[in-house]
Amino acid sequence: MIIILLGPPGAGKGTQASFIEKEFGITHISTGHMLREAVKGQTPLGVIAKEIMARGDYVPDDLLLKIIKERVEKTDCDNGFILDGYPRNEVQAESLDVILREVNRNIDAIIQIDVDFSVLEERIEGRSQEKNTEIREDDNLQVMKKRLQVYIEQTEPLISYYSKHKKFIVINGMGDISKVSGDIKVNLSKVK
Ligand code: AMP
Repeated sequence: MIIILLGPPGAGKGTQASFIEKEFGITHISTGHMLREAVKGQTPLGVIAKEIMARGDYVPDDLLLKIIKERVEKTDCDNGFILDGYPRNEVQAESLDVILREVNRNIDAIIQIDVDFSVLEERIEGRSQEKNTEIREDDNLQVMKKRLQVYIEQTEPLISYYSKHKKFIVINGMGDISKVSGDIKVNLSKVK
């Protein structure tokens, strides 16, 4: 099963992708996490991505294409995967279509986590204060606002790109985490 998770920063994509990974036994791929690891490891990709991420912009499409292509070819993706943070614009969506076509695979479902933008600031502020979570340089209010703006400009148009897919699922992301997970489970259980 191949799933795409769409939603603005702070919508809970990472949390729900982890839930789906456990529940459905497919691999969670977070491009944000992979990029943060590259930054930490000071790899050539990380060196380029560091400043871009810190200011809340998107890392260039060609770099993302390379990392996503290599990642989905790994054997832990044979059974399926959930993409959390990719694609983020139409160029990336088209690249993904090409990558999947080459290996004769299809997107089984797209899940949009629908969240009221006005509550996102509160969530991000809360998250940056939580203990035991990944410390993120881009989790401050100023950068969060920028990330939201970039999302609205570049990623929101993907909703119409994917809305005609036969399994385009809109989930109300405003409830508590377990309610959102429950709704996702019910909907994905019908997919396969
Ligand atoms: P995330 O953890 O998904 O919120 O991603 C954190 C940051 O990583 C984003 O604000 C971008 O700077 C970068 N990033 C993650 N995924 C992508 C992508 N598909 N395209 C471009 N930049 C990305």
